[in-house]
Amino acid sequence: MNGNWTGFSKKSPAERLQLLKESGLLQQEYWQPLAEQRTLPLETANQMSENVLATLALPYSLVPDFLVDGRCYQVPFVTEEPSVVAAASFAAKIIKRSGGFETEVHKRQMIGQIALYQIEDADLAAQSVLQKKADLLARADQAYPSIVARGGGARDLWLEQKDDFLIFYLSVDTQEAMGANMLNTMLESLTLPLEELTGGKSLMAILSNYATDSLVTARCVIDYRFLSRDRAEAALLADKMQLASKLAQADPYRAATHNKGIFNGIDAVVLATGNDWRAVEAGAHAYASREGSYRGLSAWTADPDKRQLHGQLTLPMPVATKGGSIGLNPAVAASLDLLGQPRAKELAALIVSVGLAQNFAAIKALVSTGIQAGHMKLQAKSLALQAGAKEEEIPALVSHLTATKNFNLATAQEILADLRKQNQ
Ligand code: NDP
Repeated sequence: MNGNWTGFSKKSPAERLQLLKESGLLQQEYWQPLAEQRTLPLETANQMSENVLATLALPYSLVPDFLVDGRCYQVPFVTEEPSVVAAASFAAKIIKRSGGFETEVHKRQMIGQIALYQIEDADLAAQSVLQKKADLLARADQAYPSIVARGGGARDLWLEQKDDFLIFYLSVDTQEAMGANMLNTMLESLTLPLEELTGGKSLMAILSNYATDSLVTARCVIDYRFLSRDRAEAALLADKMQLASKLAQADPYRAATHNKGIFNGIDAVVLATGNDWRAVEAGAHAYASREGSYRGLSAWTADPDKRQLHGQLTLPMPVATKGGSIGLNPAVAASLDLLGQPRAKELAALIVSVGLAQNFAAIKALVSTGIQAGHMKLQAKSLALQAGAKEEEIPALVSHLTATKNFNLATAQEILADLRKQNQ
């Protein structure tokens, strides 16, 4: 494609897919199910969950040209929310021109826990466990030998006393998998030895979604000139974006919405790559509260001397490229092909970069034109569809609706009826 995506948004879905195939970005075997709208077969869906009736489809889109650690990604987004893809495309383009994202995968291990209770002397119990650390790690590995063969396995264990509990934690290198079932299997193999060593009882043994051993940071530096052509306005925007980031640290009401904007991008890629978005959300929101109050996950700082805006986002990103339902959905296989079959660490780094890009677009809109200006047209389009407009009727209806100050479904229906009368 040589980075030339001009006009991509104006094409039909079939034309976009054709372009991806012709440019070698999507192999034939992954392209075919998308082109034929054969994504998740019902018989597969029926194996994945219980009481299945049908499958539910969502828009599957592409955001071109995310430059992360020097590599350019064409990123699949699955989202039903209008303007998310457009905003991400806008941000990806600006950030690419400013040099792209740089990321840091701090670690890639998953933590599980066994909650022990009815322990007489917690210090003594913890000591007994720590004396057997090597044996316990080996025992965990024996419970899931295939991950050891793949280069992973149990890496560390520690204990903490909290309320009535002595909690045992295990950290495991799960390689390309998210690791929930791996951790659960390993932990269950340790409950009996731990009960014996501590004299207590095990309440539960389960993976923790607070994946603090899977933290990933994405950073970007944006030149002021990409914020606005007007030098003074660009500087003002950078200052306001820094303030917006401060506001999300100070007020949980704003922080929740700030983070939701980040997840508009993150969830779209997590979904497109077949990952467990509940796990990612739970871990990130817990991380956002790590200092005792819920805060914004990203930080933006303006450097007026260098005329640069610095963005940073850190959160747990325990995504996988193997296991769970990842191999089962042909659309997910297409996503991984589009991304060049990334390893789990690379995918995590890309997803956090997407979150930062989405946050940039949202904050920039909020402190400048406001969010509604960009949303109006998309909202009008959504209402036009709900009012029953056919494809050829949508442009006229949307332009009439946006010309009306306050529009809703009833207005859309009225205008559509008028347009149809005029065209009779
Ligand atoms: P799986 O149980 O599917 O285990 C991973 C699978 O991937 C294994 O079969 C493994 O094969 C295979 N695999 C192939 N190549 C690799 C590789 N290079 N590295 C690692 N594994 C590889 O998935 P997880 O244990 O990751 O669990 C994730 C699932 O658990 C998700 O669907 C999640 O929704 C669900 N879950 C989540 C919970 C939570 O978040 N609290 C709780 C319970 C379930 P092999 O066996 O040969 O090693």
